[in-house]
Amino acid sequence: MAPQIKTELPGPQSKRFVELSRRYEPHSMSDQVPLVWERAEDVWITDVDGNVFLDFSSGVLVTNVGHCHPRYVEAIREQAGKLFNCYDFVNPNRVLLAEKLVQLTPPHLNKAFLLTTGCEATESCVKMARRFHEGYEILTFGGAFHGRLYGAMAFGGNVGVKRGFGPLMPGVLMAPFPYCYRCPLGQKLETCDLACIDYLDYVVKTQSTGALCAVITEPYQGGAGSIIPPPGWFERLDEWRRERGMLLIVDEVQSSFGRTGKWFAIEHWGLEPDLIALGKGLGSGVPCSAVVGRAEIMDVLKPGEMSSTNGGNPLSCAAGLAALEIIDREGLVENARVVGEAMLAGFREIEQRSPILGDVRGMGLAIGLEIVEDKASKTPAPELTKAVIWECYQRGLCLIAPIGFYGNVIRVAPPLTIERNWAEWGVGIIGEALEAVARQAGK
Ligand code: PLP
Repeated sequence: MAPQIKTELPGPQSKRFVELSRRYEPHSMSDQVPLVWERAEDVWITDVDGNVFLDFSSGVLVTNVGHCHPRYVEAIREQAGKLFNCYDFVNPNRVLLAEKLVQLTPPHLNKAFLLTTGCEATESCVKMARRFHEGYEILTFGGAFHGRLYGAMAFGGNVGVKRGFGPLMPGVLMAPFPYCYRCPLGQKLETCDLACIDYLDYVVKTQSTGALCAVITEPYQGGAGSIIPPPGWFERLDEWRRERGMLLIVDEVQSSFGRTGKWFAIEHWGLEPDLIALGKGLGSGVPCSAVVGRAEIMDVLKPGEMSSTNGGNPLSCAAGLAALEIIDREGLVENARVVGEAMLAGFREIEQRSPILGDVRGMGLAIGLEIVEDKASKTPAPELTKAVIWECYQRGLCLIAPIGFYGNVIRVAPPLTIERNWAEWGVGIIGEALEAVARQAGK
């Protein structure tokens, strides 16, 4: 396949569905370009008007194995003729998927608990940690995103998600995340000696009542703008929290199953978290999430204390098993690493000449492009960011709406099956769009 735009965009059918959406759905979801998906295959999306786009979104970093992979579809079809739901009764797919997750994650993690959504997984991690540990305080980071329900809002670090929803769960301490392009402590990476880790002591001194329990973090902050901690940060954090007897929870809902060029992002730093939250790519399209952890933590829960109506259902687990098999068999982790590196190199070249591409960062196929008014002031440029995404849409490339603390980051995350030539085509389109938008803005 190849990108093919046959109508003016949005086309007539797309316009109709967007209007219906405005009428019948709340406008609480993120504001995407009016691309109304009808079907998708591998990295190709066809909209309701028959236009074909290259997918740089993977939904929202979900469809790691590509859209509607034949083996994945077959596994779901086969299971759909057998059994959909049997609640907490043991079913073979759930147990086999739990076994597989334990095998894939570091050896000290020896149990897995299947759930439905990423938020359910992160909140479950916190519940388990609190039950296991005598403390209850959770240390988290500015910019963190762990989901949108009440617990996850509380230990999330972006007010945009929680503003106006009333008092949230107490017992959360908030520390600055190493957003080195805009260091919250006003430091420079070359000279800071990771001052943000030393600052954690100040956070504890000023916010803790003496009941520290766990620290929760994403490996790189996704929603805050694909922010990757600098070398050494994770190692120092891990040492710091061990000295204080705190558990480490890593939210790998977005960063796992090959997305960063490793099965799990924790492998980049050799981390040994006590609990990991998984989601998105695990089901690769069918809702499926999990907590993988140390047995002694997970076993503190007694029967009936934690379960979920659809968690671990045989259909989702069949999809999960098929997705993991495809990732393994087709070498998608390695593909993400190799193609991701090529894409980053391409973006870094564009960064040299573009006056509005302020920063390029990424791991594997999770890449963020930060758009600014100019490189000297680094003033965030959310309107220019939207314009670049719109220009890409007009050229047959699908990108998700801007992310980031300031709404000025373009997220590039194609399915892990993407071939290098198409990845580079997409990089070129983003380059063209950046040029067009900078020109229109008189830059
Ligand atoms: N954690 C992270 C790091 C995420 O990126 C997300 C979703 O974007 C979540 C948790 C929440 O997942 P869900 O939307 O499936 O509840």
